[in-house]
Order: sequence, then structure tokens, then C-alpha cells
Amino acid sequence: MSEARIIDGKALAASVQERVAAAVSELRMKHSFVPGLAVVLVGDDPASRVYVRNKGRRTTEAGMKSFEYLLPADTTEKALLDRIRLLNESPEVHGILVQLPLPGQIDPARVIDAIDPDKDVDGFHVINAGRLAVGRPGLVPCTPLGCVLLAKQAREDLSGLEAVIIGRSNIVGKPLAQLLLRENCTVTIAHSRTRDLPEVARRADVLVAAVGRPELVRGEWIKAGAIVIDVGINRVRREDGKARLVGDVAFDEATAVAGAITPVPGGVGPMTIAMLLANTVKAACLQRGVPLPRMLEGL
Ligand code: NAD
Repeated sequence: MSEARIIDGKALAASVQERVAAAVSELRMKHSFVPGLAVVLVGDDPASRVYVRNKGRRTTEAGMKSFEYLLPADTTEKALLDRIRLLNESPEVHGILVQLPLPGQIDPARVIDAIDPDKDVDGFHVINAGRLAVGRPGLVPCTPLGCVLLAKQAREDLSGLEAVIIGRSNIVGKPLAQLLLRENCTVTIAHSRTRDLPEVARRADVLVAAVGRPELVRGEWIKAGAIVIDVGINRVRREDGKARLVGDVAFDEATAVAGAITPVPGGVGPMTIAMLLANTVKAACLQRGVPLPRMLEGL
């Protein structure tokens, strides 16, 4: 049997970033403004610091303004909400992202609710979740947006395909189900209580794993020729004691069966930041009342 095509998330993310950069320079020339993204981190979790630094770097590389707020771990909920209020009011800030998880004294739901939905570039606000559910324009979570673009690299038209998403989180599984419905897939969301998960997974023409369990999805769970999108990021110890990243899919087994598959790392991960940049431009256009530059259509 032939090996699955590897869908290159790094290359696709680079091309999205180029389109974003072109859109930003068009906005600067035609409409005299530059989109700005504010990222707020509370505490000093090392992984979150790396994410925040990368987001800032990629934002400036795309020609946008980046504002970083690194707040101490003992920041009160009120202080964070006050900061968000200021960012909501700032005309230079078009996108606001609060890095999760937050320390225990802060309720993440309250924080997300406080972000202006039109600046909610993570797409986590209930208003944006509702807009997505009823098919109105709004800001859509970045990882699911990336998953759909990656799947379309394998097959432009997903219409009529059986899609199975394993994982029902608010940030990946549920919004992705809405996006795949919009692509006219027949969508199933599977989760920890699903009966006979391998059997459900085998129905999928498009199989998405967003669970957070290293190599849960085995080769025999996959239909021959399926498109497999692996969202999981799991740090595991190798035999030599070093850490390495693996996805939720047993990659070597899956490549023998699938038609196309995203690797970990180098698949969904890079697309998430690229879609965040695209969302920031979309948010900026919405707030300034200008049309989305042509090169961002379809993102
Ligand atoms: P989550 O913990 O919020 O949700 C996990 C989901 O998996 C739950 O809905 C649960 O029902 C389901 N689940 C748990 N165990 C299961 C099992 N044994 N069988 C079937 N379903 C099971 O996770 P999340 O935030 O959606 O993230 C999922 C994974 O994706 C994590 O590894 C996370 O690191 C990764 N992730 C990656 C990106 C990226 O940019 N690449 C972004 C977000 C999340």
C-alpha cells in the first residue's frame, strides 16, 4: 500500500503569513492604518512565555503592531479585567488574546466575557461561538480554522464527506464541527464516553484527533485513504530519556493507511499562529469598516 501524503503545515502557515503581510501593507497604503494585536500573559509558565514570544514575533514579522502585557502570577481578576477594558477601548489594538491557562484566582470565563467580541481574535467569546453556530460573520477559533485549511490541502472540496472529530472542547472540537458542517461534511463528534471509538473513527473520510492522549488513534482505526488531522501535542519521554512531541495519532501506523496526514510537529501547530494573524486583520477591517483585502478571502 502507498504511504500517505504528508500535509506540510509549516509551508501552508508560511503562505498564510505571506498573504497576511500583503494584506497589512495594502491596509497601510489604502486605508492608512496598521492592525494591532495585544497578548496578555499572567504568570511565568515557561511554555506560555514561549507561545507569547512567538506570537509577538510573528505579528511584527507580518507588519502589524504587537503589544505584550506580562503580568505577575498574583495578578487579581479585577486588575486583569481593568487591563482588558483599556485594551477594548484602545484604537490601536484590534485583537486581544489572553493566554490560557490562567492562575487559579482568575475565572477564565469572566475574562473571555470581558473581551470585546469584535476584538476576540481567539474566537472564544460566547457571542462569536453563537455567530459561528448560526452562520453569521464573526471571529472563529484559530486551531479549527487551521484544521479546515489543512484538510483542504488534501482535497479542495470536502462536501458530502464523513467527518469524525475526536474531542469536544470549546476551543477545538465544537467549533471545528461547525466549520466542517459549513463545508457540507456529515459530522460526528466523538469523546471520552463514545462507545466503540475505533469503529466510529473508521467511518471517517476526514478524521480529526483533538484529545491530548499520545498516539491514541491507531492505524486500524483509520479508513483507507482518509484525511487525518492530528491536533494533539503531547510531550513524551523517549527511551534515551529525552523529551519529544507526539500527536494523538500513531503516525507511523497511520501513514500506512491514510491518504493524507498532518505530522506533529509541523502540522496543525504552525497553522494556529498563522490563523491568529489572519483573524487580527479580519478584526481590524471589521472595526475600521473597510473590506477585507482580497488576498485574505477564503481564510
Ligand atoms: P481538552 O482536554 O479540552 O479536550 C479533550 C477532549 O478529548 C475532551 O472533549 C474529551 O472528551 C476527549 N477525550 C479525552 N479522553 C478521550 C478518550 N480516551 N477517547 C476519546 N475522547 C477523549 O483538550 P483541547 O484543548 O481540545 O486539546 C486537545 C489536544 O490538542 C491537546 O493535546 C492540546 O495540546 C492540543 N491542541 C493543540 C493546538 C495546536 O495549536 N496545535 C491547539 C489547541 C489544542
